[in-house]
Amino acid sequence: MAKKEFKAESKRLLEMMVNSIYSQKEIFLRELISNASDAIDKMYYKALTDDSVNFDQDNFFIKVSTDKEQRTLTIEDTGIGMTQDELEKNLGTIAESGSLAFKKENDVKDGHDIIGQFGVGFYSAFMVADSVTVFSKAFGSDEAYKWESNGTDGYTIEPAEKDSTGTKIIIQLKENSEDENYDDFLQEYELKSIVKKYSDFIRYPIKMDVTVH
Ligand code: ADP
Ligand code: MG
Repeated sequence: MAKKEFKAESKRLLEMMVNSIYSQKEIFLRELISNASDAIDKMYYKALTDDSVNFDQDNFFIKVSTDKEQRTLTIEDTGIGMTQDELEKNLGTIAESGSLAFKKENDVKDGHDIIGQFGVGFYSAFMVADSVTVFSKAFGSDEAYKWESNGTDGYTIEPAEKDSTGTKIIIQLKENSEDENYDDFLQEYELKSIVKKYSDFIRYPIKMDVTVH
């Protein structure tokens, strides 16, 4: 499938994310967890307004897992999911996201100092990722799709397999360098404390599952 380019504004934000300083990188977890929570909220509201939809508390959660050998970090939710169109619209452009307001209110070339204070959204994953793969199956749909990008040269969307409704985001962590060590995001203890720090207001359970080879 042909690669699609990000919109110009998204490109600029991506650049900012990629070049951010290390101390702010962990906030990508706050962004992805809050998106997962928003997606479950949407199921909750659906259930409130539609009698045919059940919201059984036990079925709604966020799961964070790692694979040390593959150096991947996965954030999964059982929320409303995204259709192919929604993947395109929501992840291919920042038009609808908090990221845009952030950019407009803050006319800065170098966002280093303020990234941590604003909702910078999904693209913050590229602060720590070489590539991001999103599997999603929308509520009410039989089809699942895979969105994939290395941040710099666009993204692809193609049909994929996914059993349950919701979204699974797989982050391929960047290689460690002299002054940046991304392995923190694979260490159970570190990861737990970062997740805790940013999930105070999350009303759904966050499960952790760490594979140690
Ligand atoms: P914002 O959360 O401010 O809208 P983001 O960049 O964080 O901006 O996310 C953009 C959009 O992508 C969200 O508004 C939502 O529609 C969609 N999205 C992101 N993550 C998920 C997810 N886990 N489940 C469903 N939709 C998602
Ligand atoms: Mg968000």
